[in-house]
Amino acid sequence: MSRHLIAMVLLLPLAAHAGGAMSINALRGRAVTDPRGVISDVRQRLDHGGANLAPADERALLWGMGTAAINADDEAALAESTLRLDSLGHARGDAVALAASGFLRARHDVANGIGDGLGEALHAAALVQGSDDAEIVAWARFQLCDAYALDESATKALTLCGEAERSYRAIGDAWGIADAENDEGIALATLGRTRDAAAAYQRSRRRFSGLGATELAVMVGDNLSKMYLKLGRPREALALSRTSLAHELAAGRISDSLDSSTDIARAEAALGHPHQAYAMMRATVARARAAGIDGQLVDLLRSESGLAEQVGRLHDALAQLREALKLTAAGNTPALRALEAELEARYAAREKELRIHDLERENRIKDLALRAARAEAQRREEARRRDVLVGRVTAVALAGLVLVALLLFLLLRAQRRHAAELRLQALRDPLTGIDNRRAFLQRAESLLRMHPDAGSPVLMLIDVDHFKRINDSAGHPQGDRVLVQVSAFLCEAIGERGRVSRIGGEEFAVLCPGLGDDAGMQLAETLRAGVASLPLSPQAVPGRITVSIGVAAFDASRHRDLAGWMSAADAALYSAKSSGRDRVEAAATAG
Ligand code: GH3
Ligand code: MG
Ligand code: MG
Repeated sequence: MSRHLIAMVLLLPLAAHAGGAMSINALRGRAVTDPRGVISDVRQRLDHGGANLAPADERALLWGMGTAAINADDEAALAESTLRLDSLGHARGDAVALAASGFLRARHDVANGIGDGLGEALHAAALVQGSDDAEIVAWARFQLCDAYALDESATKALTLCGEAERSYRAIGDAWGIADAENDEGIALATLGRTRDAAAAYQRSRRRFSGLGATELAVMVGDNLSKMYLKLGRPREALALSRTSLAHELAAGRISDSLDSSTDIARAEAALGHPHQAYAMMRATVARARAAGIDGQLVDLLRSESGLAEQVGRLHDALAQLREALKLTAAGNTPALRALEAELEARYAAREKELRIHDLERENRIKDLALRAARAEAQRREEARRRDVLVGRVTAVALAGLVLVALLLFLLLRAQRRHAAELRLQALRDPLTGIDNRRAFLQRAESLLRMHPDAGSPVLMLIDVDHFKRINDSAGHPQGDRVLVQVSAFLCEAIGERGRVSRIGGEEFAVLCPGLGDDAGMQLAETLRAGVASLPLSPQAVPGRITVSIGVAAFDASRHRDLAGWMSAADAALYSAKSSGRDRVEAAATAG
């Protein structure tokens, strides 16, 4: 429980006192914040001119020194102040001085659990019960409240502290009220009324802050921090304890700083930072060892052990608990051994549990990894199958496309060939294989378009004489053979000079571009003679075959067009027929 129980009022500097009695509470602020300074100041003051001091002032100084001695754990200074207060009380019959000495001893005994501290406090209070000084009455009530609160006699303390608070209110002593509120908080916390305790501490803390007593506000904050921890408000607890720690370290209050450090570690653990908490606790224990503070070591070691267990350092936890046990149960070795055995068994079981937990987690991780690997393999296999399928479909589609393209190509080529064949057939005579009448007309027209004025192209119309007789005597097929033979002869005889066409049953036309009149006549004559001397089979033709030829060289002035040119040639042919056949006749020329 907190040790900040010292009676404190406004800080009155020692030197500032002039005339009038010094308040019993003159040093209560400094006795807390600077106890050693107060002790040495009071000693100095008593050594130099102590004889001139008014009894009330000497009493106030000694009370200040006594409270400072308790705060500084200075047994010698405490003994000095109580002895001096006693002698002052007896010499002058000063009940307040005797009460002050009694309260100091009571506090010392309660804090250290020796003697009958509460009895002493009650006795001291009885000494000043009838005082007509309201400040002394309030002071005595508060001392009683303080002793009971410190003794953890909480129910009684609560009543006494309430009385003290009311007395302080009556004289308007804000510091006293804040002090009483702090003690009420302590009593309420002992009773487990955490929420009420927190409220009392908050009131006290605000009041001290309002008085500018920062150090005291921080001390009450330290008490409040513990309540916040219990109320599940670790963040606020952490902030308060950190502030406390900073002040305590600055003031060199090691014992209090260990307490605040422990609270910080607890708050960190509650915030879910067990490693930070453990590190803090380790440092705290180390600081306690370094400072040689064995009184708190047991509690600190227990806290350290709990946190070590939380972070899974079971060996350390066990070692710390062992040490704590040894410190408390020193000498009681059989009981210690039993406890140790029990602890070892508990930790062994816990360690096993942790190992099993680790193994389970490892297995779970392995299982997860295996499942992930399987899922990955399955995904890859599916992707592979999909690729294969896509590949096949693509290949088939491509093959199909190639096939279709090939078919189209073949079809087009066949069509083109067919069309070409048709075109050819449309212009070719099926029996002899030479140009037919249509081909002849196209060729003649184009020749005239190219050379309309040339005058040199020559047209010959050739008709087989008395062909009907051949058909009649040898038969139609034989007549066909004769036509083929004549055609072949004409083509060979004309060669490059012109083109032969079959324009009717036994009628041929020869077109010779650029041949001219005379050459045309000579060539016609050669043809006529050639046909007449064709060797023919005697069954087909009894005698020889002859042809009549009409020759017309184109004359633009006379013939105008193809029709004109052809009728000129036809007229020449008719003339050859009528002149006896097997003859060549030229078309009539101008004049
Ligand atoms: P001309 O000397 O006056 O020309 O007497 P021709 O008998 O040759 O003349 P005509 O016009 O009276 O008779 C032509 C004959 O040619 C009639 C026909 O049967 C025959 N002919 C026409 N085309 C073919 C054919 O392709 N093959 C055969 N074998 N005979 C044909
Ligand atoms: Mg004829
Ligand atoms: Mg004929």
